[in-house]
Amino acid sequence: MIAFIGLGNMGLPMAENLVRAGNEVVGFDVTPEALERAEAQGVKATSALEEAVGGAEVVVTMLPSGKHLVSVYEQILDHVAEGALLIDCSTVDVASSRKGHEMGAAKGLATVDAPVSGGVSGAAAGTLTFMAGGAAAAIERARPLLEVMGSRVVVCGDPGAGQAAKACNNMVLGIAMIATGEAFVLAERLGLSHQALFDVLSTSSGQSWALTNHCPVPGPVPTSAANHDYKPGFAAALMLKDLGLARDAAASVGADTRLGQAAVKLYEEFVENDPKGLDYSAVIDLVRQHSEARS
Ligand code: NAD
Repeated sequence: MIAFIGLGNMGLPMAENLVRAGNEVVGFDVTPEALERAEAQGVKATSALEEAVGGAEVVVTMLPSGKHLVSVYEQILDHVAEGALLIDCSTVDVASSRKGHEMGAAKGLATVDAPVSGGVSGAAAGTLTFMAGGAAAAIERARPLLEVMGSRVVVCGDPGAGQAAKACNNMVLGIAMIATGEAFVLAERLGLSHQALFDVLSTSSGQSWALTNHCPVPGPVPTSAANHDYKPGFAAALMLKDLGLARDAAASVGADTRLGQAAVKLYEEFVENDPKGLDYSAVIDLVRQHSEARS
């Protein structure tokens, strides 16, 4: 039996995929609405955390942050069966992730941090990429389940290495999106069309995943949020969270990530003035506003 803790936008579809693959899954969440949604989707749900983890061979967590992870581990570790495997798929700070590993190890449990990329659509389609950290044997134990919920497992290294990889990746993505937005705004002011700039960037050294998948102007990439009023997609608030984790991780080890810090500031400003909860690519509008303020 698998216990699944945190049945939100990501957790529920991941738990559903585990059920579809023939696993018995018992889900837990702190909100009654999440439990109701889970029941409606065929995931057994309980409002008693201890009951969810009691007979579980594997406990998967998909929670908002490191403090939720540590608090859940504090509550469950005395109730988890001997020899169980703990897989944390949440995006959390590296320090909390390592603390979670230590708490599990102190009880003799195998632990894996396996944050994901791929978003809600990847969770629903079972095509997530997992970035896995932990002992090699624990990751190999987790792999068959991760491969049900996703299509790739990248082994990153020791406990917390998955979270470290996720922080580095999303720092690059956040910076790349701002750089791409700046290029389009500069092009607008220089009288260059969006399509012409896209055609050049996408076939030249300015190419990036942010550009070719999440192009921040409407037109060149029909599936990008820019064509759908910047409805997420990947919400700017989640990008801000990930950039904050990267900033904190950098501060903890003395890495000079000044572009990452600049990206935090821009996304902070954007999110503060974004009541609609738009996609992270909408940060281009902030670049436009700043440009207008200058001219
Ligand atoms: P969400 O807010 O939709 O879901 C989190 C769930 O955890 C909620 O249902 C909440 O009630 C529950 N929860 C909170 N505290 C709890 C506790 N103590 N015990 C049990 N349940 C608790 O968030 P989400 O979008 O599903 O994201 C989950 C994690 O995945 C986050 O760490 C996020 O950064 C990461 N992530 C999200 C995306 C995305 O596109 N949404 C992409 C990649 C990674």
